[in-house]
Amino acid sequence: MNTILYKSTRGLEKNIESSKAILKGLAEDGGLFVPEQIPTFDITIEEMKQMSYQELAYEIMKLYFTDFTEDELKQCINKAYDSKFDTPEIAPLVKKDDVFYLELFHGSTIAFKDMALSILPHLMTTAAKKNNIKNDIVILTATSGDTGKAALAGFADVEGTQIIVFYPKEGVSHIQEKQMVTQKGDNTKVISIKGNFDDAQNGVKDILNDVELRKEMNEKGYQFSSANSINIGRLVPQIVYYVYSYVQLLKNEEIKPKEKINVVVPTGNFGNILAAYYAKQMGLPINRLICASNENKVLFDFFQTGTYDKNRDFVLTSSPSMDILISSNLERLIYLLTDQDAEETKALMESLKTSGKYVITSKMKEKINDFYGQFSSEEETSNTIKKVFETSDYLIDPHTAVGVNVYHKYMRETQDVTKTVVASTASPYKFTRSVMIALDEAYNEKSDFELVDIMAEKSQIKIPQAIEEIRNAQVLHDTVCESNQMKDTVKDILGL
Ligand SMILES: *Cc1c(COP(=O)(O)O)cnc(C)c1O
Repeated sequence: MNTILYKSTRGLEKNIESSKAILKGLAEDGGLFVPEQIPTFDITIEEMKQMSYQELAYEIMKLYFTDFTEDELKQCINKAYDSKFDTPEIAPLVKKDDVFYLELFHGSTIAFKDMALSILPHLMTTAAKKNNIKNDIVILTATSGDTGKAALAGFADVEGTQIIVFYPKEGVSHIQEKQMVTQKGDNTKVISIKGNFDDAQNGVKDILNDVELRKEMNEKGYQFSSANSINIGRLVPQIVYYVYSYVQLLKNEEIKPKEKINVVVPTGNFGNILAAYYAKQMGLPINRLICASNENKVLFDFFQTGTYDKNRDFVLTSSPSMDILISSNLERLIYLLTDQDAEETKALMESLKTSGKYVITSKMKEKINDFYGQFSSEEETSNTIKKVFETSDYLIDPHTAVGVNVYHKYMRETQDVTKTVVASTASPYKFTRSVMIALDEAYNEKSDFELVDIMAEKSQIKIPQAIEEIRNAQVLHDTVCESNQMKDTVKDILGL
């Protein structure tokens, strides 16, 4: 099998084995690790029809994580995709009125982040063993709500690791916050910052890029890594479910062999949709990648104009996991659009850092026709939740609703009737208040857990374990810090 090595989008690091790229998270020059080339499938889609989710996951991950042995990779996969998921299908595809919802929220924290974060800790501890790492690995994570809990759940009490999560105090739903601040495990720390998600993400990137701190850490027996979607160990597991959904469509005879499909992805950091793009590059018949934004529509503007400009007000919306103005993973796409030119990519990213914006060339812009960008206003998102529930008797969360509304706009604009998969990224129970208010404003009077019970009654969806768990759970984390104090807070925690 071909060995795949990784390199930084900004050029400094090259020829890095996958296990080392996973351990590092971010490259030392601040770039993101990318495979030297995107591999193509080495089995046919026909052959995939007989496979379980786990078997398919192996067929895809083995193409990227080539320095892991078969046994190591299969062990990671089997420990990740087990009964933590409430269905053996792991990522079921549900058809409602000609829309195919790829439900990615059946893991332990009921958002799509579980799809990758249930395997990342296993990949990381295996990688540490392979590379004879004696240091404790400190996972540093910025979260807009869902990554934090999924990473905490994955890394809690994992030997040889510590995890520190920063979230924006006013930028997550009550349920998201409660899930995080009740997290058990001696190696877990959860801190809210006075700022938004971009402040948290920038703070984490600065700490990861701090050469002095890296030295100090090493002397004390620590090294950092990241559980954010900048880690290649997050991106690759996300390719699997796009392939899986295509195979399901084929098995159910919804499509013919080689027929193209569209995918709609509610997008924030551009990780999930980038995984779909990788799947397309690998050979999956995908027509358009529909990038759905909320009112933080920086990506919509980018696809329209070729200018990425984060200089605008940050809007707090009912889809907080997409409240992001700096979509980190876009750097990996930019790198491909420049024909893998690290100098050009680095210059654009430096422009983003200094002026908050960059402009791509017309040649690059021609290559992004695979993507279609649109956005959904708060009112449209809320109306979509209500409409889908009334017409399809199917309750969706606000992130998924952003996707569905954008899909409707896409169809009106293009008349494209290609079969379409919508990535359904969170359970409605994670955003109970916004969902219930969308059905009827009067519900705003009720408490969080009254709303949970009403939702169960109305939707006939069983209350997930993740929600029952926090109903009476004790708050274990209450540290708050200024966004410019993140580094000191980390040093305090680690005793540096
Ligand atoms: C993280 C998240 C998104 C955005 O995914 P990206 O990979 O950051 O683009 C969308 N919906 C939900 C529910 C999420 O948790």
